[in-house]
Amino acid sequence: MSQNSIELRNYTNGNWTDSKSGEWLDVINPATTQKISNVPLSSADVVNKIVHNASAAFKDWRETPVTERIQYLFKLKNLLEENIENIARTITMESGKTIHESRGELRRAIENVEVACGAPTLLQGYNNEDIANGIDEMMIRQPIGVAAIICPFNFPAMIPFWFMPYAIAAGNSCIVKPSERVPNTMNLIFELIDELDLPDGVINMVHGDHHVASNLIEHPDVASISFVGSTAVAKKVYEKAAQHGKRVQASGGAKNPLIILPDADPEMTTKIVSDSAFGCAGQRCLAASLAVTVGDAKEKFRDLLSDRAKSLNVGYGLNEETQMGPVISAQSRSRIEKLLADQLTGDIDVLVDGRKPKGADLEKGYFIKPTILDNLPANHPLATTEIFGPVLSLMHVDTVEDAIELVNSGAYGNMACLFTSSGASARKFRYDAEAGNIGINIGVAAPMAFFPFSGWKDSFFGDLHGQGRNAFEFFTRQKVVVERWPSHWSRKF
Ligand code: NAD
Repeated sequence: MSQNSIELRNYTNGNWTDSKSGEWLDVINPATTQKISNVPLSSADVVNKIVHNASAAFKDWRETPVTERIQYLFKLKNLLEENIENIARTITMESGKTIHESRGELRRAIENVEVACGAPTLLQGYNNEDIANGIDEMMIRQPIGVAAIICPFNFPAMIPFWFMPYAIAAGNSCIVKPSERVPNTMNLIFELIDELDLPDGVINMVHGDHHVASNLIEHPDVASISFVGSTAVAKKVYEKAAQHGKRVQASGGAKNPLIILPDADPEMTTKIVSDSAFGCAGQRCLAASLAVTVGDAKEKFRDLLSDRAKSLNVGYGLNEETQMGPVISAQSRSRIEKLLADQLTGDIDVLVDGRKPKGADLEKGYFIKPTILDNLPANHPLATTEIFGPVLSLMHVDTVEDAIELVNSGAYGNMACLFTSSGASARKFRYDAEAGNIGINIGVAAPMAFFPFSGWKDSFFGDLHGQGRNAFEFFTRQKVVVERWPSHWSRKF
């Protein structure tokens, strides 16, 4: 059944269904401020019904051979490939990122489907014969049940795919709750999922806000929670899910430092640091928010980064030449502007000020142009708070050791990067920096789908991350079987 109306609906048991809540939110295009759709805030009864459907689907789906389960994923990959342009336009319209960024995001989503198709191998356990005379032991992986996936706004297509293809390939059923701020992308993708003719209840979608998320976390028939969002919420989700006896992986926010040594390649480093800071308008959990120059790098990179920031073409992401779009909402823009207004103390220089940009289109949408602050003292609120906007703060230290100490003093640990032409410095940094994703001459160290999307400290609560082998481990329970089959029991036939 197709779902084209502006009032979005949930998806369960192969049908588009009503939320029955009577409560709706407007979904707004942040570049034009035009309304795109209404998203329902689903009621607790509706969540219960969807969990019931997913739970009912689990038994048969679990028994479906893995080689059959992945056939649906092969088909989904093809459908996503055929619809890249359409989905990318929707991502851009509701999230504000550029069409190039949207295509890239979708490519990462597809990559996760491809990796999940390796389930027959990746789900394998291991065994030993004769752990004692005539006794064998094996570990087998079994699915856990209903997996709930709660998503943030900044990657409407990619983040659900860190979890969903793995969950179902491993034999679980799942429920996706998209961010209420960007629900249209998943709605469009569920139009494609609808074409798969999966058994009823294997993949479901429920729209809503934190109430729906809480309903899922507290529901006794939900086995696991995969959450991505801000640290404050990730912590709460982790605690609440644990209280309800669930397996949980909760990714939080970030404040990513990029260290620039004097021997870094000027042109390449400037481009990469700038792309990391201002790509997706700084709304990436792997965005550079601190650029820490070491020694002589200070003077050189300050001007290069400022010139690059000023040159970026900011506008509506659907225009192919746009290099940076708006932030997600009026509230987000006000929050960033207020943070800067409140925290910009006298010793900080505003090298590039992108606040309140001029021009009819930029004044209408939720735009902040690239902004660069200089001379941030360590521990300053702007150096420790996740701004989640196009604001890059420059800090300066004397040695690599000082830079690593600064990296490790932060509360977050999503990513840390180093720019250098010295192998020894790179190795030291890789060895000592306390972050789950490390980039060496890379500005957005986003792991491919066959690596875990690692995060440390306040950027992640849990043990097993999304993507790759970690995902298969998260979505399965290990069962260890010890078997005795004495040889004298052998029958002669
Ligand atoms: P958010 O925390 O506001 O919301 C994320 C999701 O949680 C949404 O679906 C929302 O409905 C739900 N939610 C909100 N409050 C809740 C509550 N009290 N209980 C349960 N669920 C609740 O995050 P956001 O603004 O949508 O996304 C941006 C944040 O996500 C940034 O902090 C960013 O760094 C982070 N992020 C992290 C990663 C990562 O891998 N570490 C990736 C992407 C985004």
